Amino acid sequence: MVKSTSKDLRVVIVGGGFAGLTAAIECKLRGMHPVLVEAYPGASSHGDLLDFVRNAGRVFESWDNGNVGRRLMAAGVNAAKYLEFYNAENVLLRRDPWPQAADKDCVYAGHRGEMHRIIYEYAIEIGVDMQFNKRVEQYLDSDTERGVLICGGEKILGDVVLACDGPRSLARSQLLHLPESTVNSGYAIFRAFFNITDEMRQLPEFSEMIKEGEDSVRFWVGRDMHGFIYTWKNGRDCAWVLTHLDDANIAEMWSFPGKKEDVAKYLKDAGFPIIWHQALEATPADRIIDYKLVWRDAIPTWLSNSKKCAVMGDAAHCHLPTSAQGACQAVEDAVTAAICLQKCNGDVAAGLQVFERIRFNRSHVIHQASILTRNIYHKNDWTPELVREYPDSLIIPFYPWVTDFDVFANAEENFNQLLQDVRSAKPGTIEELALPAGGDYDGMLLEKRIPEERLDELTPSNAVRVQS
Ligand SMILES: Cc1cc2nc3c(=O)[nH]c(=O)nc-3n(C[C@H](O)[C@H](O)[C@H](O)COP(=O)(O)OP(=O)(O)OC[C@H]3O[C@@H](n4cnc5c(N)ncnc54)[C@H](O)[C@@H]3O)c2cc1C
Repeated sequence: MVKSTSKDLRVVIVGGGFAGLTAAIECKLRGMHPVLVEAYPGASSHGDLLDFVRNAGRVFESWDNGNVGRRLMAAGVNAAKYLEFYNAENVLLRRDPWPQAADKDCVYAGHRGEMHRIIYEYAIEIGVDMQFNKRVEQYLDSDTERGVLICGGEKILGDVVLACDGPRSLARSQLLHLPESTVNSGYAIFRAFFNITDEMRQLPEFSEMIKEGEDSVRFWVGRDMHGFIYTWKNGRDCAWVLTHLDDANIAEMWSFPGKKEDVAKYLKDAGFPIIWHQALEATPADRIIDYKLVWRDAIPTWLSNSKKCAVMGDAAHCHLPTSAQGACQAVEDAVTAAICLQKCNGDVAAGLQVFERIRFNRSHVIHQASILTRNIYHKNDWTPELVREYPDSLIIPFYPWVTDFDVFANAEENFNQLLQDVRSAKPGTIEELALPAGGDYDGMLLEKRIPEERLDELTPSNAVRVQS
């Protein structure tokens, strides 16, 4: 049954990550009735580094007259001047302005758990119904029951389901009927976050990065390995992440306590500089996580057969960190879904089809770029000369078409035309019916330099070509 107005809609949201929280907040702010169900007992405080750039940052900035943005800014890496790139020999390759230094309003970088907590607290403040400690066992999508069945038997029903249940999404198999695909990316990340002590400040190379009144962000690239070290809050906090080739079979488990000796071996094998060994020495052993990176191939649709349930965020496009956009894209999905539900006058199936057509191509191109970018970092022997010759290749791909994107305006501007397309049953594939992606990553390619036989390594596997 079509509800008379979107205000009556009860939106069941599964997952309290950045996608689920944003969807719940945006639905609530638009007068709907979201109920968020999350398996964990509360807001997740774990994690290390996460950067939100302007395309997602503008969403947080729009909340509570800018107060959420101000809280994120206060918690984050807000006093860095540069992002510095080094090779494994610790030669400085380039120095770019730190995005937050150049773009203060809507760029937030910092501790993932802290940023998650700020957004979670805002959801509480505006009265979002959040139900923690409830694991969804079954998605329900019939004419009589739409919603979820929780372990233990409780049913939570609504008019529409937004499945924001992350990389290991149950919704993909139950709602979209896709076979479960666990794709080992072949890479893993060691991750750590800790408070810097006076003793740590004595480590000579590491201490270079610890400054009163200035945050530091450095990025190293080597053969099959790259890593970031951040220090912030007046040299109080440190986080590092080190992505490396990994041969573990991660079909089931994918996050383990990390061992210092394993990290040391990878650093040694890749010839990473002494500053990395000192950062490792400084790190409390129990603060290292060995996180196996899982990749998911692109999926052909985000909607269930009824078109009244959608997957989004990492459930729809599980990014590798090298796109630097996984969470940002999850936020864009969530806002777009909320706008489409608000504007569809209760015709949820039409609203979600418009949502999919707004998001599909843009999200796909950015998703695929996470492999492309990683390979460009890893498969070249970076020197200052190579960077001079190909200055557009060794970058964090914050292209204007990615970061300046206004998700609110985009959805508002395109909704009516796409709704008309849906209602008139315009023929075409989803790639043809969806908005163009708006850009590509071709500027990063070094094809001229790379031997023909190795070009395959630089192209995302299973990439579906879409309009750009
Ligand atoms: C090391 C690293 C660095 C990254 N850096 C960046 C970055 O700088 N910028 C960026 O934009 N992105 C980054 N990303 C990507 C980003 O973290 C993810 O894309 C984003 O967090 C996905 O959010 P999500 O809400 O879709 O999924 P998740 O955060 O995975 O949330 C899914 C939620 O669903 C819950 N859930 C799952 N199944 C059930 C169930 N059956 N019942 C109830 N609840 C369930 C889970 O408990 C979880 O809380 C990085 C990723 C990594 C690994």
